[in-house]
Amino acid sequence: MFVAMRPTATEVELLGVKGRILAEGLTPYEHRSAGGTLVAVVGEVGGRRPALMAALAELPGVERVTPINRPFKLTSREFHPEDTVVEAHGVAIGDGSLAVMAGPCSVESRDQLLETADAVAAAGATVLRGGAFKPRTSPYSFQGLGVEALRYLAEARERTGLPVITEAMEPAQVDIVAEYADILQIGARNMQNYSLLNAAGRVARPVMLKRGFGATIEELLMAAEYIVAAGNPNVILCERGIRTFEASTRNTMDLSAVPVLHQLTHLPVVVDPSHATGKRRLVPPLAMGGVAVGADGVMVEVHPDPDAALSDPEQQLDLAGFAALMLALGPIHDQVRAYRSAPVAAQAVAPITGRAVAPVAGQAVTPARP
Ligand code: PEP
Ligand code: MN
Repeated sequence: MFVAMRPTATEVELLGVKGRILAEGLTPYEHRSAGGTLVAVVGEVGGRRPALMAALAELPGVERVTPINRPFKLTSREFHPEDTVVEAHGVAIGDGSLAVMAGPCSVESRDQLLETADAVAAAGATVLRGGAFKPRTSPYSFQGLGVEALRYLAEARERTGLPVITEAMEPAQVDIVAEYADILQIGARNMQNYSLLNAAGRVARPVMLKRGFGATIEELLMAAEYIVAAGNPNVILCERGIRTFEASTRNTMDLSAVPVLHQLTHLPVVVDPSHATGKRRLVPPLAMGGVAVGADGVMVEVHPDPDAALSDPEQQLDLAGFAALMLALGPIHDQVRAYRSAPVAAQAVAPITGRAVAPVAGQAVTPARP
């Protein structure tokens, strides 16, 4: 449940509400926004719900108490209506700009990483990616260079100015990854690794959480809830494809997840068409699709010589392919922004026919985001 405080509520009244929640063995989480101050009541409320709601509603300074039927609370739009903007090394994600995270699947050598970093930075990427610890389906596949790769990533950040994102696969890796990287990645295979989620919740670095290939949107949000509840509000979600009966792509990219997530949560949403499709040829169209449905960012694997890559050779773009994709993404993103801010005006001239479009009175055209 959420407790909405009156605009006139004092700090003492707010403390009174939090104290009452704590006295029940529950945890109060406060969020202040232009709409007022909300306190989320988090914990196992059980059969106490009706009595507790009534008791909280009676406290001084309380405007109303609203039950929340969804299991995720701190990640929900109800609790936090405005978009969360995540900052990493001076780059904002979720502020309406388009974040482009690009780089190799795995860091294979210093030269390979620096060459890729220079090229993606020149093409306009905003974040450098590169796997140091690699979750591989086969134990015989390349497992990553580990800490050596983290050092190359830090060097690439110095050189290009781009923040770096890389994966931590287990709680014991969280501190070392947080020491070198600007954003921690939690991979699809680890989306429900609760000790890893808790560990990522305790570091002062943003976390990008990838959707498990068998996870529903609600399960993704519950996993994000662990990180936020553990103390880290800077979470980015990533749709990277889910497993379906379709065998012609590595996974099925769930484009609907982007606007669904934007409705349910305030956290930024990134799409990863590389892992979603597993095929180089399909990466540009699905990256464009992700931007078109309103993603806050795109993650793309890029390698100077994809066919020789030590991991995911089929899905990495080469340097020229990435630069070409960047040229296509900008105008799509501009169009989505225009549509969001003024849905009808943005279409005053239909680009396909060139004819003027008169807005239909009463026509319900809603922006992609609430
Ligand atoms: C990755 O981004 O390096 C990766 C392994 O992706 P995923 O966890 O989505 O499979
Ligand atoms: Mn990969």
